[in-house]
Amino acid sequence: MDVAKPESKRLYQIWRGNNKFLFGGRLVFGPDVASLFLSSFLIVGPAVAFCVKILSIIRHQLSENKNAVPWYPIIIVAIVLTMLDVFFLFITSSRDPGIIPRNKKPPECDETIEIDTPSVEWVNGRPPHLKLPRTKDVIVNGHTIKVKFCDTCLLYRPPRVSHCSICNNCVQRFDHHCPWLGQCIGIRNYKFFYMFITTSTILCIYVFAFSWYNIFHRQGSVWKAISRDYLSDILIVYCFIAFWFVGGLTFFHFYLICTNQTTYENFRYRYSKKENPYNKGMIKNLKEVFLSEIPPSRNNFRAIVEEDEVTVRESTSSKEKMDIEMGNNFGEDSSHTLPDILRNLEYDDIEENIKDREASDRSYSDQFVVPLGPDLKETVSSLKVEVDANTVEKCDGMIRTN
Ligand SMILES: [Zn+2]
Ligand SMILES: [Zn+2]
Repeated sequence: MDVAKPESKRLYQIWRGNNKFLFGGRLVFGPDVASLFLSSFLIVGPAVAFCVKILSIIRHQLSENKNAVPWYPIIIVAIVLTMLDVFFLFITSSRDPGIIPRNKKPPECDETIEIDTPSVEWVNGRPPHLKLPRTKDVIVNGHTIKVKFCDTCLLYRPPRVSHCSICNNCVQRFDHHCPWLGQCIGIRNYKFFYMFITTSTILCIYVFAFSWYNIFHRQGSVWKAISRDYLSDILIVYCFIAFWFVGGLTFFHFYLICTNQTTYENFRYRYSKKENPYNKGMIKNLKEVFLSEIPPSRNNFRAIVEEDEVTVRESTSSKEKMDIEMGNNFGEDSSHTLPDILRNLEYDDIEENIKDREASDRSYSDQFVVPLGPDLKETVSSLKVEVDANTVEKCDGMIRTN
């Protein structure tokens, strides 16, 4: 354990999450922010191609002394929609999604819980007199919700908070980590995320419709126009495919908003089976997302902090946690020894997921939560077998497959 000399730094410079910062901590991105370039290109590229197409039509109309005025609004609306779309993309990706600041030390032990209670599962690696239960019950709107202790952030995750294993932060009203935006979607950017996917869907329909219009507008038969106007053909196919993706996402999130669920909750809990404690009725649910004020960020990334205030305690990411608890000496440089599929995973979730699956034969896809296919389950099982031979006690509670 290293303790650095006292030195004034800004919070973003010593941030323990995997975020990337720009403009001195004013903009906060996820670790996979590079995918923003690809996403922007997938929006701007076809939009520019469409505008070039309309411009060539305008030029053609003018050269033949025909009326080009109706084409101007078409190009203006396309430009406005594209700019709005990129704006929502950027604003969703560049703001704090609702990160909960980590604790410097674990909360005090709750003395009301008997240490010898056999049914209570304890947080690992703590001396007996400081033991903390792994879960606590919290009452939300008359429903009992289990909240879990986060080993990385050293706090009990409040209801609807989840730890994003990619960003390595606990996020309020965690929806999912969007790989296209390279950012978590949480309480502070969900509204903008929804605007982004909605604008993308409208842009798709718009370009699709006017590309058909361009084809029908050409002289001669439709087939002749299709065989000659390659750009419109490509735009029609592209928008058709993209519509199923962004349109599907828009409809799915509209359903989630109306029923007050997050993607995470939808895939994990399936409220159809148990009552959703957050559902207040469709109108109130819609108001909560679109009309309620976005809470201020709980992190001042530009605040000056004394570096020695924050004990340089190595952050325990899921991978590291597993390394330590498995008694393996992987170390930073030998991270390749861990299978790719096991990196950036929420091991607590795997554990619970397996329990869930064993408890019921519900079949659902949890592709957004934990990609726990048969291969992974097998890998986890085989890892446990390997560990069993060495350090069963250390591993206990971390990855439990039986
Ligand atoms: Zn956490
Ligand atoms: Zn994330």
